[in-house]
Amino acid sequence: MTDVVARLKAVKEKIARAEVEAGRPTGSVALVAVSKTFSADDIRPVTDAGQRVFGENRVQEAQAKWPGLKADHPGIELHLIGPLQSNKAKEAVALFDVIETVDREKIAAALATEMKKQDRSPRLFVQVNIGSEPQKAGIDPREAVAFVERCRNTHGLMIEGLMCIPPVDENPGPHFALLEKLAREAGVAKLSMGMSADYETAIAFGATSVRVGSAIFGGRT
Ligand SMILES: *Cc1c(COP(=O)(O)O)cnc(C)c1O
Repeated sequence: MTDVVARLKAVKEKIARAEVEAGRPTGSVALVAVSKTFSADDIRPVTDAGQRVFGENRVQEAQAKWPGLKADHPGIELHLIGPLQSNKAKEAVALFDVIETVDREKIAAALATEMKKQDRSPRLFVQVNIGSEPQKAGIDPREAVAFVERCRNTHGLMIEGLMCIPPVDENPGPHFALLEKLAREAGVAKLSMGMSADYETAIAFGATSVRVGSAIFGGRT
């Protein structure tokens, strides 16, 4: 077994254990393997090991790597987890199966237009700037519920869940708890939260998917 496959297996075991500890059904948490910065050759052992759900944070990088991998491995589900510019909405709708970073009116409008044009409906998450950090993407928590409603009512977009990245230097638990509360208020079922350092904590707080990069693929340069 290669290192990356051994690490994938270890992460999956930890997810299973965290599900049990949280009293949640086995298999209720999806693993999004975050392959940003890694090449198609780095990713292939992970697809060969059966992993099908992946996350990328840049549209252009994903366009270069994924069409070939998708052709070779039926059932790949690709998530956009990085900031989306409205001039990339066309490419994002064409390539991604899930877009987790809907965070402002302009993006919602651009996605609605492209989804109609292409007759493609990637599943959508709203990204919440859960720690209200000035430099970070995402809608402010105080505006999140109203924004989800505008996505539905103004743009006709089905929002499936919320996504967040807590501040790096803080205890993530209260941030995960707030995202869970906002999702309940907004009436959305899915919670994308938890990365390599805190995915077990996120599962305890109700994550339905975790986005794990370095714990699988190793450090990024
Ligand atoms: C890079 C990234 C991850 C994965 O981070 P790791 O700490 O390597 O697990 C998860 N979510 C987002 C939005 C990212 O950009």
